[in-house]
Amino acid sequence: MGKTLKKIVLLGPQASGKSTQAKVIMDYLGIPLIATSHILRKVVARGGSLGQKLKEYMDSGVLVPDDTIITLILGELGSEYCMNGYLLDGFPRNLKQAEALNTSCGVDKIFNIEISDKVAMKRVLGRRICSEGHVFHIEFQPSSKGDICDICGKELYQREDDTEEIVKRRLAIYRAETEKLLDYYDKKNKLVVFDGDKPIEQVSEDILKYLQEHAE
Ligand code: AMP
Repeated sequence: MGKTLKKIVLLGPQASGKSTQAKVIMDYLGIPLIATSHILRKVVARGGSLGQKLKEYMDSGVLVPDDTIITLILGELGSEYCMNGYLLDGFPRNLKQAEALNTSCGVDKIFNIEISDKVAMKRVLGRRICSEGHVFHIEFQPSSKGDICDICGKELYQREDDTEEIVKRRLAIYRAETEKLLDYYDKKNKLVVFDGDKPIEQVSEDILKYLQEHAE
């Protein structure tokens, strides 16, 4: 019998540790990560009118229109790269996107990393990333090379949308819209909840334990 877990969605507010936990899941299940914000940033970096429009949405912390994001992500999931499954980070974010996923490539389980707004804010304000999408934290997970990425040597910077005001707005959007997804997936019996306020290594252990028990 094949693996029962190969299509996973990772949900959780900003700075719930999704990138760190994504690596744990990918390594264990051998599936690729499809990180929405990284895909969007690649389109932005290419320039052009679509890139410019996406940048405006992202810089102001509001969601990119559903039709645009659905086309981009379902295009990725239909590629050969995702043939053996995928781990989605950042998609779906609302019911329309969830329905689009449901009627196309589908999903086996939703892993929700729950975290309080207070912890989210503290983590976001210290977050630093590089242009390859590697993520550090000045306090909890600093690069040994200061403001240079340990992994690829590129410069680390603070995202333009990682300011207190924009983070508050993003958290409010998350609570208002994305949390409806929890209900939606709970009713489908696909929701698995992890306590993200715990130290990051402890959350990784909880996730690994779940995978050991549920993936063949
Ligand atoms: P994140 O790092 O996941 O907060 O994403 C950064 C920005 O990318 C968001 O503020 C949105 O503008 C955009 N974005 C990421 N994922 C989605 C999505 N599933 N739907 C619409 N917009 C998205």
